[in-house]
Amino acid sequence: MTKQDHMRAFEAMQKAVDIVNTSPHPTHKISSALFNDEFIQCATNYWPQPILDKIGTDQRIGNSSSTIHAETAAILLSPKTQGSSICITDPFCPNCAKNIVEAGIETIYIDHKGFEKKFWEKSSGHFNNMSMEIVAKAGINVYEIHRKEKKIIPIFEAPLNYNPPEDSPIQIEPCPDSQGAFYTLVRDMVQQYHNRKFVTAMVEKPDGSTFSMTVRVHPVIGYTIQNDHDIEIITNPGQKYSYIQEPANRLLMNIKRQGYKLRPEYIFCSQVPTSRELVNMLGADISKILIGEPFKVRHESDLDAKKILEKNGVIEFIPWV
Ligand SMILES: [Zn+2]
Repeated sequence: MTKQDHMRAFEAMQKAVDIVNTSPHPTHKISSALFNDEFIQCATNYWPQPILDKIGTDQRIGNSSSTIHAETAAILLSPKTQGSSICITDPFCPNCAKNIVEAGIETIYIDHKGFEKKFWEKSSGHFNNMSMEIVAKAGINVYEIHRKEKKIIPIFEAPLNYNPPEDSPIQIEPCPDSQGAFYTLVRDMVQQYHNRKFVTAMVEKPDGSTFSMTVRVHPVIGYTIQNDHDIEIITNPGQKYSYIQEPANRLLMNIKRQGYKLRPEYIFCSQVPTSRELVNMLGADISKILIGEPFKVRHESDLDAKKILEKNGVIEFIPWV
């Protein structure tokens, strides 16, 4: 980290702190600022508009809260996240850790006051046992930041030239901008990845050309099924979070990583996304999902999530035949 990067972090963290009280959440007000040399993108945690309009804020979506977390919100709003840094008012949860990793963010700054709040007492276990392990295995630097004193304390610094393992590369195919072309491609993918969990979407490059992105479920970057110790951790996470990065989250993060745009009307999921994926998909303006196996789920509660979103007209699920 150069001195200049840290100077930019003080500026970004101040911007995050400036908006934290605009968070609509009554008790957990959290904000973040994702930045590089070109932009600073701030976001608070929030409820997606279709949830506010059609469901309300009290209802859980399957086993997930109905808010999009501040870190994930900032990623979804940013033009391009590869190589960027992020400032957060509070220590991050394991799900956001996975999204930060997948979005290619290289440095995380946490406001020192985040370690003094009441909320921290409740979340410190997951942060120490899982969130930090995930970002460390991915080679991301983490710092505690004191804005007023202009002080930065390392929590974790990755070895230079560290290269984390990544299973299941993303598949990219040319795809003309038409429903017919997209459906033909999905048909090929269904054959190719028979019975596996994956997502295919149409994506647009900055020059306006379109292509398809097919993303499989995989262990979060830094973990691999080639390594017995990693397999042991992945299969026995010992807590409510998992070390698996689900394909829809992975897709949304990789689109932002590269600076591409999702065509939200063209997305196919081989099975029902998890509750958390479904909430994040609302943050990417997805309101219609083509679905391969409409009753296949990771948890029973994911079916509840699907039902509530379907019943209230938030997401339309179209069975693939
Ligand atoms: Zn989170």
